[in-house]
Amino acid sequence: MSHVFPRHTKASPPVAVAGDGCYVIDSAGKRYFDGSGGAAVSCLGHSDPDVTAAIKAQVDKIAFAHTGFFTSEPAEELADLLIEHAPDGLERVYFVSGGSEAMEAALKLARQYFLEIDEPSRHRVIARRQSYHGNTLGALATGGNAWRREPFAPMMIETSHISPCYEYRGRENGESVFDYGQRVANELEVEIQRLGPENVMAFVAEPVVGATAGAVPPVEGYFKRIREICDANGILLILDEVMCGMGRTGTLFACEQDGVTADILAIAKGLGAGYQPIGAMLCSGKIYDAIESGSGFFQHGHTYIGHPTACAASLAVLRKLTGGLVDQVNPLGRMLDGALRDAFGQHPHVGDIRGRGLFRGIEIVEDRDTKAPFDPKRGVNKALKKAAFEAGLACYPMGGTIDGVRGDHILLAPPFIMTEAQVGEVVDKLAVAFKKVL
Ligand code: PMP
Repeated sequence: MSHVFPRHTKASPPVAVAGDGCYVIDSAGKRYFDGSGGAAVSCLGHSDPDVTAAIKAQVDKIAFAHTGFFTSEPAEELADLLIEHAPDGLERVYFVSGGSEAMEAALKLARQYFLEIDEPSRHRVIARRQSYHGNTLGALATGGNAWRREPFAPMMIETSHISPCYEYRGRENGESVFDYGQRVANELEVEIQRLGPENVMAFVAEPVVGATAGAVPPVEGYFKRIREICDANGILLILDEVMCGMGRTGTLFACEQDGVTADILAIAKGLGAGYQPIGAMLCSGKIYDAIESGSGFFQHGHTYIGHPTACAASLAVLRKLTGGLVDQVNPLGRMLDGALRDAFGQHPHVGDIRGRGLFRGIEIVEDRDTKAPFDPKRGVNKALKKAAFEAGLACYPMGGTIDGVRGDHILLAPPFIMTEAQVGEVVDKLAVAFKKVL
């Protein structure tokens, strides 16, 4: 009997014993194409020699040094390289061990910032109904995924949730795409006024929504309007790029494509590419200066912040991403999008195909015309995941409840090193699963 506490207690997953580029190999020798990079993690695939060499070299020097006493060379170099490529205004990097930790740090930094600048009533967070920001209690409270929140609701900080920017279901007949974006962005203004701007600390959003909805990009102008509203009311914009960042959407930071920058930005997943657990929170000079000239101490921390081995791995990853790999994402993404549209664009149960770069989603519906989803009891997303896995494709189907609509979707987030032939392989394997289930 296994003594591992598994994710699903009734499941007995295969044992992953090796990685080979885009493939994970189990103990029976079966190869699975990693179509979602785990959950948008493995942007370099599974056997990058430069990253493993960087890890070994760092472990040989010093594996760990506590940030209560020391900084480290890889942490300093990684922060420099991140800031060199980060959107304007982001000047400091705080390293953690994953996405939820990055979001917790972001929330606490926002709160401390307002204490430092003597606006102590600001504490409320506004986020969106279609969002996931992590599973720790603060991050979970910020996220809008009803299924994930429900069991823990009594333990959560109060958060407001406004509409997502979800064109497929949200845009009304006759409404232009731009007007739709402005309308949903303006819900932020309404909620700020309802709460009183003096009580609101931050608005939190994923630039391209990941786990809750399958790669939903914003419409043009949406984030510019959001930024305006935040600035007009003196509230911070926290962007969660844990899933959509680090080149996944075709630019190193997803928000670059929307012409906005964040006051605080969270990254993880692709930052370590799965070679080490690492996340980071980037913040503006304005926020850092307020802490530095105030208490001089961010009242937060974990044992493994700035972990040298994790930073060394991540530095090797980032050098590859910024050294040309991200440039491959858009051409491959366009190819993947085209192949998905060719294979499934006319499928009677495919409602929407969407995304940016190598971050692609397919929304499955029972009826294309009415957009009615399948009865959740049918477990369409689980059946698709199983059938795809049997066909040798690991992908990330999810179901969720968004504004009362229970949907099924597939999220594809393959490694950036995939070849043109492998684009075909992913779509072919997915087609096998579709044929079996739908
Ligand atoms: N934010 C987003 C947008 C995510 O997709 C995730 C993970 N799926 C998290 C935060 C939490 O990250 P982690 O699982 O590394 O704690």
